[in-house]
Amino acid sequence: MNKPLPFYIRAVLALPSPLRHGVSLLFGEQINNIFTAIQGKQLGKSTVILSFDCDFPVDVDALPTLCSLLNSRGIQGSFAVVGQWVESDPKSHHAIVDGGHELLNHSHTHPNLRNESYDFANSEKFTDKVFSDLTRNEQLQELKLCHTAVFENLGIEMQGCRLPHFGNLDPLDAYGLMLELGYSFSSSILASLSPTLGAPYTPHENIIEFPVAGCPEHPFTVFDTWHCLVKEGGRHARPGEFLQLGLNALALCKKHHSLLNLYFDPKDVAFHEDFPRLLDSLVEADVRIMTYQRLMLEWK
Ligand SMILES: [Zn+2]
Repeated sequence: MNKPLPFYIRAVLALPSPLRHGVSLLFGEQINNIFTAIQGKQLGKSTVILSFDCDFPVDVDALPTLCSLLNSRGIQGSFAVVGQWVESDPKSHHAIVDGGHELLNHSHTHPNLRNESYDFANSEKFTDKVFSDLTRNEQLQELKLCHTAVFENLGIEMQGCRLPHFGNLDPLDAYGLMLELGYSFSSSILASLSPTLGAPYTPHENIIEFPVAGCPEHPFTVFDTWHCLVKEGGRHARPGEFLQLGLNALALCKKHHSLLNLYFDPKDVAFHEDFPRLLDSLVEADVRIMTYQRLMLEWK
């Protein structure tokens, strides 16, 4: 970024995380508007990316339905996949490849996925380990095994990565791992915590980072379906609220010519009544819907 951030923005960003979230509860929408305007000046073209993290087998089960929703509208999405689920259910993952969508490495076991509150996440198949607590070699193995699983089962050589639970770790530690796999991009940081406030940037030689959009009302939280619809009943789960938030984010993206890098869970959107309407609005809007690899070409 060429210009230093305004003082009041640096002051908000310097706050400890709990205080930052407090400020975000009071002024989240205003902060998000300012951040989007700043990042839009760097990108200059209204651009949407639709990414999906296939964390659980229930997400994998939703892939054929989700891909049909995208395919029927001519939308290419980006799917972060977990190696062990690719191996156990390659058929469902083929919906991604058959639709011409993009694949990202999301590790082999997705460490720290076990959640005893969910029947679908409470088994020995889900590890308690946290990715950032693994040794460097274990982390590298997580990424390598996923890469191999995708290549052997789907015939695709992935070029990018979304780190599992990226909010809990500094991606700077992992860019070296990605380079060892020959990767050229990552989408593993929250827009509001990135140095560009959401515009793509180069954090490490030969790696481009595409920051993930924050919630339009809570910019220090990822705008994902876990936040909106699932966690503690969802912060934006009233009828039509998820759609309205998506439309608000889209309007800002158009206004400021910024990047709206969305990230949802397949199990939460494939059967949600708001989602097809959000997709229709994206298609009708004057924005580019891109994959990471297509957008990356602009940086080469
Ligand atoms: Zn929110």
